[in-house]
Amino acid sequence: MRRKIVAGNWKMNGSADLAKQLVGYVRAEADTLDNGVEVVIIPPALYVRDVLGQSDGVLGVGVQNVSQWVSGAYTGEISADMTKDLGCAYALVGHSERRQYFGESDDVVSAKVERVLACGLTAVVCVGETLEQRESGQAEAVVAGQISQGLARVAEGQWPGIVVAYEPVWAIGTGKTATAEDAQAMHAAIRKVLAEMGAPAESVSLLYGGSVKADNAAALFAEPDIDGGLIGGASLVAEDFVSICRSMPADTKG
Ligand code: PEP
Repeated sequence: MRRKIVAGNWKMNGSADLAKQLVGYVRAEADTLDNGVEVVIIPPALYVRDVLGQSDGVLGVGVQNVSQWVSGAYTGEISADMTKDLGCAYALVGHSERRQYFGESDDVVSAKVERVLACGLTAVVCVGETLEQRESGQAEAVVAGQISQGLARVAEGQWPGIVVAYEPVWAIGTGKTATAEDAQAMHAAIRKVLAEMGAPAESVSLLYGGSVKADNAAALFAEPDIDGGLIGGASLVAEDFVSICRSMPADTKG
């Protein structure tokens, strides 16, 4: 049985006030969810403490990035141990915006995944192709490469700490979503790559991300290999985010 997860990535948005209002609302609504979905909030690191204060242990809390190093003279960096120490349970790794604007390679992703797992956090590892790569028929090969390199250091027994988020770059923040069929096809391909790596592929949760909204979430989550969503823009609107969480079917996945 796979974990069903809906995680809200606030990116560089929000405030202490939003943390209070939005998370308070989501926390209250989470009690009425009966579909077994784990609701996770991933705010900017500065607001993690505010979100944790509102989440009451009911919502999962994560960070958007961690350092690939353990500790030391890395000004501006935040370590995986620190986020664990604060009470986080999740860390995003390799979001396409990190890859695009901060030059994160698959090797760096792999080092970060290693740090996150070493601390006992769940790594939500993001992969996805650009529009150019999709249009030239390379989407599956690109994603397969990101998976095999980014997850190369996952040891046997550590796979329960891995969640993969498939986020086609052309769908992030653009209003363009992959069709449920295309997303399902990529998720099935990802599961195949995981199996080839020796991972317990049927038990790894795979999230879809890229312009998921209240009106398209149900169709995506109905697909057999889509175990949840990584939500950007819509996670900043409390009612929309809760509505996406409600769109998860109650049946078990996997
Ligand atoms: C994201 O930030 O991971 C994301 C999927 O953003 P959006 O939902 O806004 O496309």
